[in-house]
Amino acid sequence: MDKEKTEGQKLAEELLMSPKSLGERKHSLLESAQEFCEGYKEFLNCKTEREVVDYTIPLLKSKGYTEYVRGKKYAAGDKFYLNNRDKNLLMVTMGKKPVSEGIRIGVSHIDSPRLDLKPNPLFESTGMAYLKTHYYGGIKKYQWFTIPLSLHGIVCTGDGKTIKIAIGEEEGEPQFCVTDLLPHLARNQMKQTVAEAFSPENLNILVGSWPYDDEKVSEKVKLNIMNILHEKYGISEKDFLTAELCAVPAAKPMDFGLDRSMIGAYGQDDSVCAYANLMAELATTNPEYTTLTVFADKEETGSDGTTGMRSFFFRDFMEDIADTYGLKVRHILQRSMCLSCDVNAAVDPAFMDVYEPTNCSYLGRGPVVSKYTGSGGKYSTNDASAETMGFLRDILDDAEIHWQVGELGKIEAGGGGTIAAEISIHNLDTVDMGVPVLSMHAPVEVTSKADAYTLYLAIKAFYESPKKKP
Ligand code: MN
Ligand code: MN
Repeated sequence: MDKEKTEGQKLAEELLMSPKSLGERKHSLLESAQEFCEGYKEFLNCKTEREVVDYTIPLLKSKGYTEYVRGKKYAAGDKFYLNNRDKNLLMVTMGKKPVSEGIRIGVSHIDSPRLDLKPNPLFESTGMAYLKTHYYGGIKKYQWFTIPLSLHGIVCTGDGKTIKIAIGEEEGEPQFCVTDLLPHLARNQMKQTVAEAFSPENLNILVGSWPYDDEKVSEKVKLNIMNILHEKYGISEKDFLTAELCAVPAAKPMDFGLDRSMIGAYGQDDSVCAYANLMAELATTNPEYTTLTVFADKEETGSDGTTGMRSFFFRDFMEDIADTYGLKVRHILQRSMCLSCDVNAAVDPAFMDVYEPTNCSYLGRGPVVSKYTGSGGKYSTNDASAETMGFLRDILDDAEIHWQVGELGKIEAGGGGTIAAEISIHNLDTVDMGVPVLSMHAPVEVTSKADAYTLYLAIKAFYESPKKKP
């Protein structure tokens, strides 16, 4: 029996926020989230930006997308895509309104932290063969020792051929690892700081230990490994110089928790947002405003290069669209809005000292909207305007989507950014929205299935909303 509520209780209900988890709000949500995440787990098997693009293009075609033709005037409901260098995808669904009224953009990145092979990687030492690496993105190096790794990438040979390589993902294929010191001899290592104890120059991948059978050869194990690669792929040592190869955790994406409410997998930063973004793009069929979904690359290394968000590929594409209708790209972007879909740090009770509990995001409380990222003093960040935040809030509230805010952590605990700053530079209103992640940038990252599914619903609501941006 509920007792009559006091005036104060009623007032508190009316005026104060009471954070609740998605599960408390709608217990049955997990079922739909489970179903959604079956497809997500499949997507997570793409472990590099190239693999995501390779996987996504056939999916787009099966959903009626055609390759973009410059100058073509598309009709409302038409869907098309552009592939930039096999590392970016731009996917469009034409709206009923002319693009001159602005478009709805969602950007997520499809690169993740990993170990890239150095240009000259193969060496032999003490009867073993190794591949030298240079880590890509921000990693805690110690986490990459002694875990099973797989090799991915492409090799461009001198004769114009491109060979795709993936070893260690399929059942029965060999895998690799970086070795670590046994505890018995680690007395000195244990006294060092973590940064000192795990040097990036020690992130060498063990790839062989058996010699080529010829007494006259000096580096027999190295030669044997090169010979195996030559027999399988037709490559020689020189071809490493013109390759993009990397090692990533070989583990398969998995359900985590006895309640199977979570996903544990490599690369969820930012595949969890990329998948939600892609699914929202596919599900949007006849929107009021044109939608543009962008898969970005190089986010983890600062968004430079031809496929990073600092590249003109995005602007050039928009300019081609604008030209078709005799418009200026700047006039379209001023009226548009962009969701920078990237993950945020979920509060971890084991490390409470770096979180500010009322402004950080929690696993299972829904998509996390971040007004700003960066670090102390709001340095170097897109700080979304109250108007932009208000517009998004309006859309999400209408669609009954529960969301939370999230600062990355305590003000001076560290810091980090997203591509929102690279997007808003185009005078394009941008706000970060993503999924809270535990163990971000670790070989296995943890997310809530309900958050992933709700992010999809949120992006879809944003794409489909007929509301005019203020
Ligand atoms: Mn990210
Ligand atoms: Mn990241």
